[in-house]
Amino acid sequence: MRSISIFGATGSVGEQTVDLLRRAGGAGAFRVVALTGGRNVARLAEIARELQAEVAVCADPDGLVELRERLAESGVAVAAGPEAIAEAADRPADWVMSAIVGAAGLVPGLRVLRHGATLALANKESLVTAGPLLMAEAAAHGARILPVDSEHSAIFQALVGEDIAAVERIVLTASGGALRDWPLEALAAARVEDALAHPNWAMGQRITIDSASMFNKALEVIETREFFGVEPDQIEVIIHPESLIHSMVGYRDGAIMAHLGAPDMRHSIGYALNWPKRADLPVARLDLARIASLTFRAPDLARYPALRLARDVMARRGLSGAAFNAAKEVALDQFLAGRLGFMRMAELVERTLAALDPELGGSNLLNGLEDVLAMDHLARVRAVETARRMAGDA
Ligand code: NAD
Ligand code: MG
Repeated sequence: MRSISIFGATGSVGEQTVDLLRRAGGAGAFRVVALTGGRNVARLAEIARELQAEVAVCADPDGLVELRERLAESGVAVAAGPEAIAEAADRPADWVMSAIVGAAGLVPGLRVLRHGATLALANKESLVTAGPLLMAEAAAHGARILPVDSEHSAIFQALVGEDIAAVERIVLTASGGALRDWPLEALAAARVEDALAHPNWAMGQRITIDSASMFNKALEVIETREFFGVEPDQIEVIIHPESLIHSMVGYRDGAIMAHLGAPDMRHSIGYALNWPKRADLPVARLDLARIASLTFRAPDLARYPALRLARDVMARRGLSGAAFNAAKEVALDQFLAGRLGFMRMAELVERTLAALDPELGGSNLLNGLEDVLAMDHLARVRAVETARRMAGDA
């Protein structure tokens, strides 16, 4: 019986993973090792009972008492706090979903790779902050990382049977997010609820706002570079409002392999779950005659400064990915709290990176985890200071 863990089981990707496991037979078909959540203890307990997990862990230490009560006499062990989540990653499992949001997904992901598991990676932030470490850890332990981000799953599928050396370009598609048709001048005043109205995908709150600012696409450009090992100038971004082509790979003979499907994360989660086979998945089938046309347009860098910042990060490497992601997480927190305007998120990230410049290190250094975590922390401190200064300027 295949053993499975899910980190971030109560989130958008986590719940869709649970849905697929349930459809494939649930507790009777898989041995569920660890399930983790953040603050939603009630939901975590429900899933853990249903799937008869060995252990349920919530990130919030204050949730332990409630988690224990809710799982009394269920046979599910309980724990809480970030260290307990990392320990849950030490429990061997064959297939592990990494679907925590943010840099908090890095340590559990690295620890999963140590026992040679297959890591289904939704947590793009771990590749952005520490791509070389993650890839080296996988190689050292014979572990496999399968991309779950829809674009990267699409690229991965378009590469099956091909030689990466024959790749000329990778074209990442972007929906353009909730505000793509707003006039540029109006963006500064966009509110949280405006940015949350994603046209095509139902996702967690943070990634939805990151889609509107294209910080999500900026992370994905860096993720592409780190995961597939292509050069930054081989990676393009195109706005494709229908979100039906999930990404494309262009080869040296001019052919482009595109991956199409309904915008449903259960496709890429299911592909990773069933890989290298394909199995039936409960996703809508495309009616191409009804769709009739697919459209594309170039992204306007004035609207999406995050894309320009991603280029700087890729040129710099070292610890700049860790700093970029951490500053972006702070900028998003500030926007969510109503303390920072929509367009000022990129300004905050840029100013934070500039302030940290001397500390970001050289180009291809394979920094240790401690350096990455220290930079993550430092960048958060600097970003909060910079945000305060920006609030003073405003
Ligand atoms: P979400 O906010 O819906 O869920 C995040 C999960 O992580 C929840 O279980 C939450 O409780 C947990 N969590 C939050 N903070 C934590 C912390 N500090 N420590 C431990 N656990 C914590 O997020 P999501 O939309 O499911 O996204 C998860 C990851 O997948 C992100 O990296 C995102 O970029 C990526 N992703 C999501 C989608 C999507 O459709 N939602 C698509 C592609 C990639
Ligand atoms: Mg994506």
